[in-house]
Amino acid sequence: MNRVVDLRSDTVTQPTAAMRAAMFAAPLGDDVFGDDPSVNALQERIADMLGFEAALFMPTGTQSNLCGLMAHCQRGDEYIVGQSAHTFRYEGGGAAVLGSIQPQPLAQNASGQMALADIASAVKPDDCHFARTKLLCLENTWNGHPMPMDYLRQATALARQHGLAAHLDGARLFNAAVATAEPGETVAAAARRITSHFDSVSVCLSKGLGAPVGSALCGSKELIARAHRVRKMTGGGMRQSGLLAAAATHALEHHLERLADDHALVQRLARGLSGIAGLQVRSAQTNIVFLDVADGRGPDLLAFLKARGILATGLIGLRFVTHLDVDAAGIDRTVDAIAAFFSERAETALATQRASGY
Ligand SMILES: *Cc1c(COP(=O)(O)O)cnc(C)c1O
Repeated sequence: MNRVVDLRSDTVTQPTAAMRAAMFAAPLGDDVFGDDPSVNALQERIADMLGFEAALFMPTGTQSNLCGLMAHCQRGDEYIVGQSAHTFRYEGGGAAVLGSIQPQPLAQNASGQMALADIASAVKPDDCHFARTKLLCLENTWNGHPMPMDYLRQATALARQHGLAAHLDGARLFNAAVATAEPGETVAAAARRITSHFDSVSVCLSKGLGAPVGSALCGSKELIARAHRVRKMTGGGMRQSGLLAAAATHALEHHLERLADDHALVQRLARGLSGIAGLQVRSAQTNIVFLDVADGRGPDLLAFLKARGILATGLIGLRFVTHLDVDAAGIDRTVDAIAAFFSERAETALATQRASGY
C-alpha cells in the first residue's frame, strides 16, 4: 500500500525523529514568567537571524499577525493591505473585530502586488473624516509568489514617505528567501535582506520549516513589548512552550536550506503536468502549484486523486503544496494519476462520440 501523498498544505508535516528528540531534551520553564530557556533561545535566534531587536513566539501565524497589527495600530487607525492578503481575508477579520483597526484593502495583480500609485492614493490626509492610515502590510510569498526585491524596496519606501510603518506577513518568508537568494547566499542572509525593509515580520515555523506548531513575530523591543501584551490578552500566554520552541529551533537549524528541494518538486510537478490537455498550470512558484481545470472538473479530479491516496485542496483553484514529507516518487505518482484522469475522460468522450455515430 502506497503511503498518502498529502499535498494539501505544507502544514501537514510530521515532526522528524531528530526534531522529536530535540523536543524531548528541551530544558523548560514557565514562559509567562519569562523563564523558559528554550523559548528564549528561539526568540533570540530568530530575531538575530532576521535582523530585529526582539521576537515573540506565537501559537499561530494568525495570532502573530494580529498582535503585530495591534502593536502598530490603535483603535480607529487604518492599515493598507491586499484585497486577497491573508490578514485581511483569511484571519476572521481579527484586526477589525479585536483591534478596531480599519483595513483599507487594495487590488493586487497576478503576483500579489498592489500598485504603488494605489497605495499612495489610499493614504488618508489628516482630517477628521478619515481613519488614521498607519501601516502598510505586505505578504511574501503570496500564493507561492515571491515578491521582487525592487517592489519590496519601493513599496516600503513609499510607506515611510507617508509616515507609515511596514509589516510583513512572512508566513512563507523562507520560501521567498530561497527564491530570491543570490548565488552562494544562505537562506538566512536572503531572508534578512527581505526583512530589512520592514518594521515587523511574522514568520510561520509550522509550514515549510516543519515544526508542529508556532510562528514568530519580530520587531523592535518596544513593538514586541506591545505585542506581548496583546498576545496575553488574546489568550496566548503559554507555559512550558519550550517543548514547541525547541522543535522550531531544530527546524531553523536543519530545515532552511532544504526548502530548495520543495521548490524543485514543484517544478517537477509543473513539468509533468505541462502537456496534459484539459488543465492549465496557473502558477508554479516556490512550493505551491495552482491548476485551472476545464469544464468545472476540479472537484471530480480531487475525488479521483483522493481515491488514489493523493490529497490536494480546491478552495481557490486546485492547489498542491510540497513540503518535508513529499518526495519525487510522490510527485510522479501525482502526475501519473492526473494524466490518467484526463486520458480516462478522453476515452470516455471518444466512446460517447462513437456510440452516438460521429
Ligand atoms: C498560514 C498563513 C498565515 C497564518 O498562519 P496560521 O498558523 O495558520 O494561523 C498567515 N499568512 C499567510 C500568508 C499564511 O499562509
